[in-house]
Amino acid sequence: MTSDDKQQRAREKANARKEKSRNRRLSMGIVDVRVGLAKTEMAQLDELIVARAGEGEPYDKDEYISTLIRRDHESLIKQQQKHAQTRCQKCHTSPPNCEGLFKGDRQCALGRFHAKLRL
Ligand SMILES: [Zn+2]
Repeated sequence: MTSDDKQQRAREKANARKEKSRNRRLSMGIVDVRVGLAKTEMAQLDELIVARAGEGEPYDKDEYISTLIRRDHESLIKQQQKHAQTRCQKCHTSPPNCEGLFKGDRQCALGRFHAKLRL
């Protein structure tokens, strides 16, 4: 086999791998999202994908970001469930009845809940 043949086979293999990856992404409904990051944020991301992997292989950026999204969503669901069981000391009702009556009031369970939601 000549080196041209080897190069041709390597190209075909790479194309097949790309095609397989494209099909996997399509079948899973994966969508690309463009995100603007400052230089420092990009450096932090590069540090995080290594540090958060511990002794393992660094996360790839897609995996790292999608993991953060899933975890934050789990956290949101827990916060919402906790809030749903909270009795408001201002309105003296339980959610969802306590909706904006005392908006912004820190004594209102809804106001406190909204403050806790912020990142
Ligand atoms: Zn309230």
